[in-house]
Amino acid sequence: MIRLENVTKIYASKAQSCLALDHISLTLPNQGFVAILGPSGCGKTTLLNLLGGLDSPSEGTIFVDGKSMNEWDEKALDSYRNQQVGFVFQNYYLIPHLSVYENIALSLELHHLNVKEHHEEIMEIIEKVGLKGKENRKMNEISGGERQRVAIARALIKHPKVIIADEPTGNLDAKNRDIVIDILKSLSKER
Ligand code: ADP
Ligand code: MG
Repeated sequence: MIRLENVTKIYASKAQSCLALDHISLTLPNQGFVAILGPSGCGKTTLLNLLGGLDSPSEGTIFVDGKSMNEWDEKALDSYRNQQVGFVFQNYYLIPHLSVYENIALSLELHHLNVKEHHEEIMEIIEKVGLKGKENRKMNEISGGERQRVAIARALIKHPKVIIADEPTGNLDAKNRDIVIDILKSLSKER
């Protein structure tokens, strides 16, 4: 589904430029779990940002379902980011004063979907990530591992074809790391 061809990313400022990705070519499978490993600063986040349409390459092409992202206008990019891709980050990016339920529902509201109509589905996803019974807790009333599971649930409610997770276990202890990886692995069986 996603293929990179000679993708280069250079961050240029007046003072200096940084070659973050140097002619990367790779094909991602349509389904499954892919991990990108490497030391800090090697370009992992840069690559994920390009895959998710959050940034664009300096050179080279990313093909999604055979179509070059270079040709897409803002509208096409928006719909890709909003509908096809779900993002999970190390720092969660959840809204602190909202509950587990509300953080997930917000994702629907941002897509102009009716939360009441999707109530059952929200509850199913909350159960899927093991947070049943905690749906009314605020973000400071749950653990880091649970927060990351809210972030995964928030991504899932959009039914994305691809979940992009950038160091999703970076802030977690060993036990929660295993739980989050297990959830992501089981999700990768269907996307
Ligand atoms: P990783 O996620 O593997 O730690 P990054 O993709 O964040 O690596 O960074 C790759 C390289 O690009 C690093 O040398 C980093 O300093 C540089 N870099 C990342 N983002 C920017 C930016 N916005 N402007 C300039 N340089 C950047
Ligand atoms: Mg990074």
